[in-house]
Formats: sequence, C-alpha cells, structure tokens
Amino acid sequence: MSATAPITQDVMTIPRKLPDGPINLVGLTRDAMRDALIAHGTPEKQAKMRVGQIWQWIYQWGVRDFAEMTNLAKAYRAQLAETFVIEIPEVVSRQLSGDGTRKYLVRIAGGHEVEVVYIPEDGRGTLCISSQVGCTLTCSFCHTGTQKLVRNLTAGEIVGQVMVARDDLGEWPEIGAPKDETRLLSNIVLMGMGEPLYNFENVRDAMKIAMDPEGIQLSRRRITLSTSGVVPEIARTAQEIGCQLAVSFHATTDEIRDKLVPINKRWNIAELLEALRSYPKVSNSERITFEYVMLKGVNDSDEDARRLIELIKGIPAKINLIPFNEWPGAPYTRSSGNRIHAFADIVYKAGYASPIRTPRGEDIMAACGQLKSATERARKSRRQIEAEAGL
Ligand code: SAH
Ligand code: SF4
Repeated sequence: MSATAPITQDVMTIPRKLPDGPINLVGLTRDAMRDALIAHGTPEKQAKMRVGQIWQWIYQWGVRDFAEMTNLAKAYRAQLAETFVIEIPEVVSRQLSGDGTRKYLVRIAGGHEVEVVYIPEDGRGTLCISSQVGCTLTCSFCHTGTQKLVRNLTAGEIVGQVMVARDDLGEWPEIGAPKDETRLLSNIVLMGMGEPLYNFENVRDAMKIAMDPEGIQLSRRRITLSTSGVVPEIARTAQEIGCQLAVSFHATTDEIRDKLVPINKRWNIAELLEALRSYPKVSNSERITFEYVMLKGVNDSDEDARRLIELIKGIPAKINLIPFNEWPGAPYTRSSGNRIHAFADIVYKAGYASPIRTPRGEDIMAACGQLKSATERARKSRRQIEAEAGL
C-alpha cells in the first residue's frame, strides 16, 4: 500500500421505501419479501408460499399488476396493491444501431439516468448493465471516471435493467406455454457505469434474483462481474455470488497501472493477483477474464505482452483485448490494428485465449461510459442555447 491518501468512497444508497410511499417488491430478496409481506398483513404461516407465487409472477412471467396474479384470492390482490408496487426503471430513450445493438437510457428515482446496452449475437445476446450512477474511481482512460458519482443503484434498479430489456425484447414467456430454452438475453455483464464491488450488497442481491431458478433463471456462468480490483471484495464475490469474474488489468507494471487504474495505489498488482488466484476454485468458475485496454505507446508493447504472461502464470485466464474507445478530450489514442494483433499473438502463443473485442454499436455511442456523457452534453448545449436566447 502506498502512503498516498486512501481511496475512499462517499456514496449514499437510497432506501427501498420512501417514507410514506409504497414499497417496491422488485429487488427484495426472498427473505426480505417475506418480511415485508408479514409486516403488512400476510399471515406468517402463508408467507413463504405467497412469496413463491408473487416471485414467479414478477420474475418468471414479467407481470407487474397484482390484479393479474390469478392464483391469489381477489381480496388479497387488492390488499397487496394498497401497500406494494412492482416497479422497474423507466425507459427514456432507446436507440438501435445498424449492427443490432440496442442502447437504453433509463431513469431511476431522483431523476438520474443510467445506460444499459444489449448486444445481440447469433440468436443470443449480452446485456451490459450499470451498478452506479457515475463512479468514485478515476481511471484515466474511462469517460465514466470523469463523471462524479451520484449514487449507488438499488438492487431493484440493477435487476430492473434486465427486466427493461426483457420487456423490449418481448422475452417474457407466455403463461402456461412449454418451456423455451432460446434466450435473446442469455448473458449479463456488469460492465456499464460504476464499480460493482463498491455496491456489493445490492449487486449481489440483484444477481441472486437474476439467477433464481423460479424466475429469470440465468446461470451464474452467464453472468460476468467486472471490477477494477477491489481486492477485499473479490473473495466475497466468489463466496456470495459465484459468478464469472473479469478484472480491469490494463497494465503490467505498478507504475503504469497506478496511472491508468488509480485503485492500484491502494491494492497493487501483486495483491490483486493473489486475490485472483483463489477465485476460480472458491467460485467453481472456469477462468478469469483479464480486460486489457490497448492504449497507443502506453501499455501495448511486446514487452508488456510478455510481462503479462509472466504475471498471470498459474491462473486460468482469458485475455480480452479492448481497442480503446476514444472520447472527446481523452488523453490517449487507440493502438493500431497491427499492434493489437501482435500483442494478441504473443499472449495466444503462451496458451491463453486472447480475443480482440469488436466495438459494437459505435454509431449510437454504446461503448463504455459514452451514453451518459452524450446526454449530459446534449443538456448542456440545450442550456447554452436557452441562455443565448435569453430564456
Ligand atoms: N468499473 C468496472 C466495470 C465497468 S467498465 C471496471 O472498471 O472493471 C467495463 C470495462 O470497460 C472495464 O474493463 C474498463 O476498464 C473498460 N473501459 C472503460 N473505458 C474504456 C474506454 N474508453 N475504452 C475501452 N475500454 C474502456
Ligand atoms: Fe470506474 Fe470502471 Fe471507469 Fe474505472 S474503468 S472509472 S472503475 S467505471
């Protein structure tokens, strides 16, 4: 650990229930839903069964209206509707890219907006979701890192992003229809805005809901959490979530990583690798994805590739090379195609898969951190226009 000021987080999580408003059932764990039902009149003896029924309506069938929950008595449905709501984030805008990528801007409580990106692939698809509005960390190549953290998302707002996409893809099954295994939304990556391990409990609860066999039913092998390297929470992720792990590695010396991913000053490369070594065994997952953004002249030399291989020796790994997504004012440029391929080749010959991530949805600015900034820019210019017009 270095002597510099520790990186702290100063975040606020808003409570699930507004002082006098209804309680949103979306995002509650099964236990929390049971407690909430009992606290509002459901007899204790029935509570577990009622949770099972309501859970299935919400997460298996996508029903948001208590009146449609036909296996509950009419009076009970009315009673539920007095206290509870089933609410997910509101879609503000939806953009469709020429390559099929869909980008949603969703609004959450407090009027904040976050991005959600759906990337289709051969009849399946990956949803990239956000865990925070902005980020407390300040990775120098990341546009989200230039935005102030506003707040952590609640578990309901996190799993709600999955439900928004299922709505838009028309993917809720017909009630009573035979089970259909084809999934347009087959994978989730926590690679949108924010550092998921600085919002651990909410991310965990949301992912547990997405994995629940009576609901959205995504296997933990199809969920990947990306962290910049919050070392103390890595073992917890293995134990309490058990999903796949990706790590924003991006450099092969502490000197460079301190600059690119400043959390490295708190937990350096050696400490990070130590935490990663035990992850696959504890989580029973196959391998860790090392994300490596390719920045021209900064971290993309043959020597870097060779150092990377040395560092990760013994860790079951895949190296995902990400061509830098440039943004206005960014202090870096993207490595050339040839450089990226030469780097990939060295890593591949050492026995590691080294896919180069194809940028998707470029025409709608769907790459990491870009959407929110675009909205802010649009706002600013509208304000400017108004000011100029003397409004
Ligand atoms: N906060 C988490 C997850 C969100 S970022 C993390 O840092 O891991 C998802 C991935 O996109 C990370 O690997 C991040 O380093 C990378 N990324 C951020 N900005 C980028 C950019 N401009 N170009 C390419 N990759 C970027
Ligand atoms: Fe935050 Fe991840 Fe961007 Fe770093 S790369 S600033 S941790 S969102």
